[in-house]
Amino acid sequence: MRWRVAVVMGAALGTAVPASAAPTYIHAGRLIAVPGKPVRGPSTITVDGGRILSVQDGFVAPAGAAVIELRDRTVLPGLIDSHVHLDSDRGGEAGLLAWVREEPRMNALEAQWNGMKTLRAGFTTVRNLGDEGSTLALREAIKRGWVQGPRIVDAAKSISSTGGHMDGRGALNDELVAHLPDPENLCDSAESCRRVVRRQIDRGADVIKFATTGGVNSGTGLGTRMLAEEAKALVETAHAYGRKVAVHAHGADGIKLALRSGADSIEHGTVMDDEVIRLFKQSGAYYVPTLSTVNGYLERIAADPNAYAPEVRKQVDWRIGVTGQSLRKAYPAGVKIAFGTDAGVSKHGRNADEFELMVKHGMPPAEAIKAATVNAADLLGLSAEIGTVEPGKSADLIAVAGDPLKDVSVLKRVGFVMARGEVITRP
Ligand SMILES: [Zn+2]
Repeated sequence: MRWRVAVVMGAALGTAVPASAAPTYIHAGRLIAVPGKPVRGPSTITVDGGRILSVQDGFVAPAGAAVIELRDRTVLPGLIDSHVHLDSDRGGEAGLLAWVREEPRMNALEAQWNGMKTLRAGFTTVRNLGDEGSTLALREAIKRGWVQGPRIVDAAKSISSTGGHMDGRGALNDELVAHLPDPENLCDSAESCRRVVRRQIDRGADVIKFATTGGVNSGTGLGTRMLAEEAKALVETAHAYGRKVAVHAHGADGIKLALRSGADSIEHGTVMDDEVIRLFKQSGAYYVPTLSTVNGYLERIAADPNAYAPEVRKQVDWRIGVTGQSLRKAYPAGVKIAFGTDAGVSKHGRNADEFELMVKHGMPPAEAIKAATVNAADLLGLSAEIGTVEPGKSADLIAVAGDPLKDVSVLKRVGFVMARGEVITRP
């Protein structure tokens, strides 16, 4: 049997692996152990207690050991999506309606459902960049072993100025708004910006996300909607508390403001000029392209031409038209790129569609894979834990048929997923 899982001596696969479990031997036909470095041939990865114990050449396993046969597959590190919103992927007018009508408890369950789609697609770690708090709860439930899901780095609620991208009140009528409590994610001075960061950290945020510009989906435009003293106060406070900062920015001025303020990554980065590129290189910040949003837009509009309110639709059409332009400028210039989809705008579980878009817009497959492993791990501050298949790291592994270095589309069909030593899916 070519795809054989030998379970011997009672070692059960498919359940959480306790620290005392007997080691599991994974036979990989080819191994992309460290994306960016040469591919290894037939290899054996030994896993125990959720960690990688060793990586050896050839197929080895002591008699009676538990072996997972992936001899006809390419094995690589679990993938990392640096930009998702797990709580929903219903956008446009339908998303707005769901936000107003649905119970937060439903949102939490939806986040778990979306988390599983993401994990089964081979994304063993995600950075969740803003929702009402459902994903904070999911992150804790996964840590406690109550439910399965990807490893989550969470931003809690995204921050903006009043009337900015994260001020959802613009979509509601004034009488309804009058009954809402004061949003705790909006700030309009250095002092209030420090306070909102502290509030999100107090809720459990691992990373801080804010917007220097308006947004496509909120209909708030693409220009700058924050002052330098506000952006600086946000970044300074987050960094003082050991949190990295992800900044949503579309227009060039908003990107420059974020980079000059010390942002660790720019999300979307839709309009880039030479000065933007220079600031990226000077600061060492990552660019997270989120090209997949175009798929979400096109699919929603195809299903319903009125999926978006007219003022939002205008921005959506513009964004569709410029997809990939920034990546075509940033990648050849040597800007650091981390993989991120903005799933939530696009569909959860289809995260790997981003690989095709990255390659279409000029990145070699090896570099796109590196962006979703080594680079994203670095951006998330988790290089010691994830991003490569090396001894001591978390046993986060995926396997695909075919060669993803020649054809990234094989990553859309991940047949085997192991997360923290636990087998999540196999064909
Ligand atoms: Zn987003």
